[in-house]
Amino acid sequence: MKKFAMLVLIAASVRAADDPDYTRQIRQFTTGPQFTTELVDHLPASSKVPTPLQFLGYIAGAENHLTYAEDVYRYMRAVEAASPRVKVFSIGKTEEGREMIAVAVSNELTIANLDRYRDITRQLADPRKISDEQAQKLIAEGKPIYYATGAIHSPETGSPEMLMELVYRLAVEDTPLVRNIRDNVIFLTTPVLEADGRDRQVDLSRYRLQNPKLPTPPLIYWGHSVAHDNNRDYMGLALALSRNVLKAYFDFHPQVIHDLHESVPFMYVSTGTGPYNASLDPIMVDEWHRMAWHEVQEMTRRGVPGVWTWGFYDGWAPNYMFWTGMGHNTIGRFYETFGNRFPSTENRVVRGASDREWYRTNPPLPTVKWSLRNNVNYQQSGLLLALSDMADRRQHFLEQFWTLSKRSVAKAITEGPAAWVFDGAQKRQGQLRDLMTLLR
Ligand SMILES: [Zn+2]
Repeated sequence: MKKFAMLVLIAASVRAADDPDYTRQIRQFTTGPQFTTELVDHLPASSKVPTPLQFLGYIAGAENHLTYAEDVYRYMRAVEAASPRVKVFSIGKTEEGREMIAVAVSNELTIANLDRYRDITRQLADPRKISDEQAQKLIAEGKPIYYATGAIHSPETGSPEMLMELVYRLAVEDTPLVRNIRDNVIFLTTPVLEADGRDRQVDLSRYRLQNPKLPTPPLIYWGHSVAHDNNRDYMGLALALSRNVLKAYFDFHPQVIHDLHESVPFMYVSTGTGPYNASLDPIMVDEWHRMAWHEVQEMTRRGVPGVWTWGFYDGWAPNYMFWTGMGHNTIGRFYETFGNRFPSTENRVVRGASDREWYRTNPPLPTVKWSLRNNVNYQQSGLLLALSDMADRRQHFLEQFWTLSKRSVAKAITEGPAAWVFDGAQKRQGQLRDLMTLLR
C-alpha cells in the first residue's frame, strides 16, 4: 500500500503540464494536505503567459509577500498581453487617484465578442423592452457573468494574491473543469476594491517585516476616510469605489456578484440566518442556499475541514458590496475565509467556530497552524467550484436573471409598492432633494 501511494505521489509531482517550481512552492506554503484541493495544489505551466512567480518573484500566498494594487494591475495587464482569453478594463479612480480595474476571463472567442455578450445580459436585465421569445433566443446564445471582488477590507489581505493566480489558471489550465468554465462562463474580477487602503496595508506589512521588535501601527482608516463601513456605502454612494463598481455593474450586468472577505475560520459561504430581506425575490434566496451547499459539500467531499454556511450575517441588511447587484436581480454572495492579516504563518486558536452545529457538521479544527497560502487555497477552490456550477448551468443562470427581472417589474402591480410619495411641503427641502436625486 505504502509503495503504491509513493508511486502516485511521484507521478503527481512530475506531471509534465505543471510549472515545477511554482507547484513546489504551493506545497511548501500550505501547512497540511487537508488545507488544499486537487484544483489548486499545482499550477499549470505556460510558454506564453507569465505566472505570478515569474512576474513578481513570489507565488500567490507566499510567506511575507503582499502585492500593491498597482503591481496587481501590472500583472493582470501582462497576462492580458500574453493571452487572448483575458481583457483588462479601467473602471475609475479612488479618492487618492489610484486606479480600479475589472479583468474579464473566458475563451478566446468569447473575449473577442465580449461586447455582444455584454449586450445580451443588458437586454435580459430589462424585460420592458424585449419579448419572451427574444429573451429565449438571448438565453440560448448568452454566457452568464460571475463577478468576484477582492480586498474591500484592507486588513483582509489574501484575495488580490488569489485572484492573480485564479486569472492565470483560468486562462492557462486545460483540465475538463477549467475548460468547461472558460467555454460557458465569463469570469469578471476587480482584484482590489479599496486600493487606497490596500497600499497602506502593504506598507504596514513591509514595516512589520523590517521592524520585527516594534509594534506595527494600526490602519487609522481602511481607505481614504472610511473604515469597515466602505461596504455599507451602496445605500449612499458616497465613495468612489461604490460608484465605480456600480458603473462596472451596469457595463456588464453580471448574474452573480461575490465579495471576498476574511474573518471567521476556515471558510464561511454566505446564506445568512434570516430573517431574509422581504424586498428580495424568494427565488434569489433559494439560489443562495443551493449554491452555498454545493460548495460546502464539494469541499467537504475533498476532505477539507471547516467549510460551512448559515450562521453568520442575517441576509436582511444591505451592507455588502454585492448589494450593488442584488438590488438589480443579481445573485449576491460572499465568503469569509480565515486570514492572518499579515502574510506570516501563525498558530491560531479557533474558539466557538470549532463546535459542531447543524450548519457546520465538519467544523474547523480547534487549533491550527495557518498560512496565507491556506487562505488562498480555500478561496480559490471555492470560486472554481462555484464557476464550475455556473458552467454546468449556463442557461439556468441567464433564465433566472430574466425571470427575476420580470418578477421585479411586475411587483409594482402584483404586490407593490408601486410608488413612494414625498411631501413637497416638508421643512428640510435640501435633504428632500438629495434623497430624490439618490433614488433616481
Ligand atoms: Zn470584510
